[in-house]
Amino acid sequence: MTKFSALSLVKNALTGHKGWTEQWPECEPKKEYDVIIVGAGGHGLGAAYYLAKEHGITNVAVIDKGWLGGGNTGRNTTIIRSNYLYDESARLFDHAVDMWQGLSQELNYNVMYSNRGCLMLAHNVHDVQSFQRHIHANRLNGVDNRWLTPEECKEYCPPVNIDKNARYPVMGGALQERAGTARHDAVAWGYARGAAARGVDIIQNCMVRAIRRGPDGAVMGVETDRGFIKAKKVAVSASGHNTMVMETAGVRLPLESMPLQALVSEPVKPCFPCVVMSNAVHAYCSQSDKGELVIGSGTDQYVSYSQRGGLPLIEHTIAAISEVFPIFNRMRMLRKWGGITDNTPDRSPIIGKTPVKNLYVNCGWGTGGFKATPGSAHLLAYTVAKDEPHPINAPFSLERFTTGRLIDEAAAAAVAH
Ligand SMILES: Cc1cc2nc3c(=O)[nH]c(=O)nc-3n(C[C@H](O)[C@H](O)[C@H](O)COP(=O)(O)OP(=O)(O)OC[C@H]3O[C@@H](n4cnc5c(N)ncnc54)[C@H](O)[C@@H]3O)c2cc1C
Repeated sequence: MTKFSALSLVKNALTGHKGWTEQWPECEPKKEYDVIIVGAGGHGLGAAYYLAKEHGITNVAVIDKGWLGGGNTGRNTTIIRSNYLYDESARLFDHAVDMWQGLSQELNYNVMYSNRGCLMLAHNVHDVQSFQRHIHANRLNGVDNRWLTPEECKEYCPPVNIDKNARYPVMGGALQERAGTARHDAVAWGYARGAAARGVDIIQNCMVRAIRRGPDGAVMGVETDRGFIKAKKVAVSASGHNTMVMETAGVRLPLESMPLQALVSEPVKPCFPCVVMSNAVHAYCSQSDKGELVIGSGTDQYVSYSQRGGLPLIEHTIAAISEVFPIFNRMRMLRKWGGITDNTPDRSPIIGKTPVKNLYVNCGWGTGGFKATPGSAHLLAYTVAKDEPHPINAPFSLERFTTGRLIDEAAAAAVAH
């Protein structure tokens, strides 16, 4: 693997860019692996990378039914933040935010992490109280978050409309300055490259049809489009399709799969310096380095595996964007798309062991798992390698739905991206 450096860039520029090696090889499955990871999104590829790098487990395959990063990793609006209410969530998401800071250097791959800040606008008394509660809880957990007046919001993000006569006037906002965005594809590519360099096989265009269990009930391997592949351990990280894969092992997950949509505008010059979220009006927006406004919509109100989502949600989102940022009223939208999200009842993820021996799951990230990618990958690798959860992901077990120890970020935030 060629190491990216200023020197290698100059050298290759002078020699017609012929010296670059492939980033990861096309692999045919071996007969047997120590660990198989189902799903080559950021979480699955990252878990393979940390299994190899931190636990010395390199006989690993990551298998995807499509191309790597083609699931929600390559479809999301890339908002990264850790200002969640509950202690468990703050620890989980802040672990990831910590890891984002040095990820490009760690992977020797520019994931374009930009901590430009995330501003959450309050439009009513309930928003004000709820965000101030979040700020206090976050500070107790060492997570940065502070309150801005409407004028300070405008100063931080000039396109925000703070006209007091607006239908939903801005009454202030909660700002997490360490929050931001990253380049989603680069995260998948960087982890894939790092994992492949350590001996991990990445197998694309190969659907996992079923998980096979032996006579003792433990995992034996996976049935795929390219035949049966034996494995000592299997970790499923298949996002919107987790329920379908896990059902084949006899494990039912408390998840509902729903399409979530996003859209981008025509590119314009830099005018939007941060991420802004408005939960009440339900608009959220940032600007990509290409200049497009990246706009997030909501989930459809019904379960579905159709990867496109309904038009009424896009209309609602555009209305909300026009309300909060009237300066964008006449911009043209370029394209929209959807991804299938896997949502738990408490809108917190599940990372851990399952009732089946040697079968692990990483799921339930719903509409907000991109921000957690390095953290969740790191914790999944730990859990698989040690056969026990890391203290950070221990509360995010599957059992919480039987014990009742939910981590109810759904009720706390009313939005999850
Ligand atoms: C429109 C949209 C906007 C979003 N915005 C944000 C945001 O701003 N911030 C944020 O934090 N999160 C956001 N999210 C959520 C985030 O994208 C996901 O939580 C995260 O990317 C999940 O990563 P993953 O690696 O678990 O899943 P994925 O990237 O979806 O990877 C799972 C992989 O599993 C594969 N797979 C499925 N079934 C099988 C099978 N049977 N066999 C083999 N492979 C299989 C799929 O092909 C896929 O590549 C958004 C999601 C969407 C759809």
